[in-house]
Amino acid sequence: MLREKGARVETATPEIEMLASNMLETMTEYSGIGLAAQQIGEAIQLTVIDIRPIEDRPSTLKIGDKEADPDSLMPLVLMNPELTPLSDPEPGGEGCLSFPEMSAEIVRPGRVGVKAMDAEGGLLEFTCGGLLARVIQHETDHLNGILFIDRMDREAKGDLREQLDLLHKKTQAALP
Ligand code: ZN
Repeated sequence: MLREKGARVETATPEIEMLASNMLETMTEYSGIGLAAQQIGEAIQLTVIDIRPIEDRPSTLKIGDKEADPDSLMPLVLMNPELTPLSDPEPGGEGCLSFPEMSAEIVRPGRVGVKAMDAEGGLLEFTCGGLLARVIQHETDHLNGILFIDRMDREAKGDLREQLDLLHKKTQAALP
């Protein structure tokens, strides 16, 4: 499922809204700051984000020409997000709820433009930087079947080899 590209969400139905609110609950329960539909077994272009629990990694937000408080967007529900890189790639630490207790430095653009559908079916357009930009890129990858292990360099992946092999075995054993 994690490798499946999500289908576009055409309309924000009550079912989608319910799914998004369940995802936010699950994410909070596991102390995550982002969760993609693929991670709960639904291959659709829907992700939820809330960066407020992380206070030591700043974010920036610009809506139109105006600077805005990133917290004002939280919790954030994005559907069919399209991203435009706006700055050079830079390294930053990342983890993933689908890879418990693993983290690595991942290189991604520090600032991105975001165009997406919001929870009510409206168009959401903004640019962001810092942690928020990183989380949105990580989650948008999920929606396209891409995982953060795909973006790790050889060394980072080597450091996690044992943990990854163990997770792979556990996952295989849990399959029906
Ligand atoms: Zn993830």
